[in-house]
Amino acid sequence: MDTQKISIETPIEYLKNVGPARAEVFKKELYVYTIADLLQHYPFRYVDRTKFHTISEITTESTYIQLKARLIDKQIIGEKFKKRLVARVQDETGMIELVWFQGIKWIDKILGVGLEYVVFGKPTFFNHKPNIAHPDLELLSEAKKVIASTLQPIYSTTEKLKTFGLDAKGIMRLQQSILQNPGFLMDETLPKEIIEHYKMLGKTEAMKQIHFPADTRLLHRATARLKFEELFAIQLQILFTKSYKATKFKGIVLESLGEYFNTFYQEQLPFQLTNAQKRVLKEIRTDTLSGRQMNRLLQGDVGSGKTVVALMSMLMAIDNGYQACIMAPTEILANQHYNSIIELTKKSNLEIGLLTGSTPKKIRKIYHEKLLNGELNILIGTHALIEDVVQFKNLGMVIIDEQHRFGVHQRSKLWKKNTIPPHVLVMTATPIPRTLAMTLYGDLDVSVIDELPAGRKPILTTHRYESSRLRLLGFLKEEITKGRQIYMVYPLIEESEKLDYLNLIDGFDNISREFPLPQYKVSIVHGKMDAKGKDFEMQRFIRGETQILVATTVIEVGVNVPNASVMVIESAERFGLAQLHQLRGRVGRGAEQSYCILMTGNKLSSEAKTRIETMVKTSDGFEIAEIDMKLRGHGDIQGTQQSGIVDLHLADLSKDQKLLIEARNCVELILSEDPSLSLPKNEKLRLFFKSKSNMGITWDKIS
Ligand code: ADP
Ligand code: MG
Repeated sequence: MDTQKISIETPIEYLKNVGPARAEVFKKELYVYTIADLLQHYPFRYVDRTKFHTISEITTESTYIQLKARLIDKQIIGEKFKKRLVARVQDETGMIELVWFQGIKWIDKILGVGLEYVVFGKPTFFNHKPNIAHPDLELLSEAKKVIASTLQPIYSTTEKLKTFGLDAKGIMRLQQSILQNPGFLMDETLPKEIIEHYKMLGKTEAMKQIHFPADTRLLHRATARLKFEELFAIQLQILFTKSYKATKFKGIVLESLGEYFNTFYQEQLPFQLTNAQKRVLKEIRTDTLSGRQMNRLLQGDVGSGKTVVALMSMLMAIDNGYQACIMAPTEILANQHYNSIIELTKKSNLEIGLLTGSTPKKIRKIYHEKLLNGELNILIGTHALIEDVVQFKNLGMVIIDEQHRFGVHQRSKLWKKNTIPPHVLVMTATPIPRTLAMTLYGDLDVSVIDELPAGRKPILTTHRYESSRLRLLGFLKEEITKGRQIYMVYPLIEESEKLDYLNLIDGFDNISREFPLPQYKVSIVHGKMDAKGKDFEMQRFIRGETQILVATTVIEVGVNVPNASVMVIESAERFGLAQLHQLRGRVGRGAEQSYCILMTGNKLSSEAKTRIETMVKTSDGFEIAEIDMKLRGHGDIQGTQQSGIVDLHLADLSKDQKLLIEARNCVELILSEDPSLSLPKNEKLRLFFKSKSNMGITWDKIS
């Protein structure tokens, strides 16, 4: 490799021993385009090459092992594609076969009977006898000279790559050719102060050590350093954008609390606010006085009382002569918000509108006018709100419910309706772990309602097998006799959609037979019905005309039927934790004792078991979210695909919380001293992130 010409941005085909054909598979299989990308293809494990096993120690549990053994014989057996080279080696404790299916001729030529080798590979058992296919072989006399790195890196690869000679070993050789080049040098990415403060390895050294660690201690230091850097990069991106927005966008100052807020609080509020609700309202109050635009995420479990917080935030705006709106992801939810807000404000003279896809044209026109002249105080609706024809006189407060359904882009479309952007409160009932929130919504300030209104009876959650179905039916009848309503939820997974629908319809038929007309009435709602049909069935259930609602997860988000006190989840093992938690949140909204019954098959995977046990054990959404992230890793959690998390090669938000918090603190410190990163000592940071083409934001646009 010519050191002068190769840099880490060099396309991978120019690396010696790669070339266009291998480069093509690298790109397709591993998204490796440049040398930097290859370096970020970190080992997924290491084997200790200083450790030798004896042949008698090999068990079916053995993974990679290393032996010192003498070759006693070799022969080629079988015909055509069954042809293979079998060599036998032995040490003082026993004998083992080594097998090659490819490159037979060549290997046969170099293997010397009677010579001593270092054999390295993964044993498999055939007819109770161990053998090693395609082992690494090295003459013992040679090996003694070179065993330099004690921990040998193992790289993930693919079948396709292997056919191009890029197995774990092949990739290792390429890494070696880059890293062991005496001229190898990477630019330092982290500020000197941080490296010194934490006594971190420099970038170049860390990169060398993570691929070819001298010992485990250095491996740990290298890993920590590189993880830190990844987390630091994301936090810098988020917090820099945030502080930039804060300086660029002025925020409406909601000077004083007035008539609407005070009257509501003192005379109309039907209950005492919880301490958590009060705290969040104070946080919102502070934001709206600050002169900066509020961008706040309100996390609160289902039933924690976010609606009243939303309403009171809107009243702050209205008291200061502004309008407010709530945007919900579905028509059903928009309707529900509308009804709750109307109910809460029935003693006031506020003008409140509901705008959804099914709002008649005539009413729309009236709204459009009343919005423009300021007569309408609050508009509640769906996506219909962000259509260009919807213009406010002076929008001051935007509430977005169930945020993950709306993109950032849609959010900002609402802002553009004003010269000074309105305050934004995003509400979500999907609790997410703190580290994930810092990363996904790092640009938002986070408020948490972590307390349910007093007097709520905890939902009783139980796990039942098919064998208890008769008893379940009896129980459901009792509850219906007491006047309660019941949800029965069936899974619907895209891959097995057809079968799932059959199960759902089957379930509906069974339930209809068990709960016959006219005494009982059963609704059904699923994704194949049109909006009208769905709404019709939902409304029947909401009005209490039907006692049972058989449904797929379409009812997941936000539906509120306080009289429904039993949630039966069929094939509960097929649901994710977050989903189970959401579904359970549909009950426990009234004064009655509520139940959640998780029906499963008899055979559960250990992960499914953990999910079910977690649900039975706790109803704390944050605890559930932590367990969920541990089970699934952060990559699968909803919304992560759009975030910087895709840039994480090493760091894991479920395990590296401490590092993340340190990284964030460091970034905060740097930005508090130099918000625009214009000090000379921070120039490097600016340049480094600018050069990262895969970062979510383009720095040119901001600067
Ligand atoms: P969510 O956070 O799921 O949107 P809601 O705002 O719909 O919760 O509130 C759930 C129920 O709890 C509503 O019926 C609401 O009126 C009631 N509620 C909210 N806050 C309180 C409180 N502080 N005390 C008693 N009930 C409350
Ligand atoms: Mg709600």
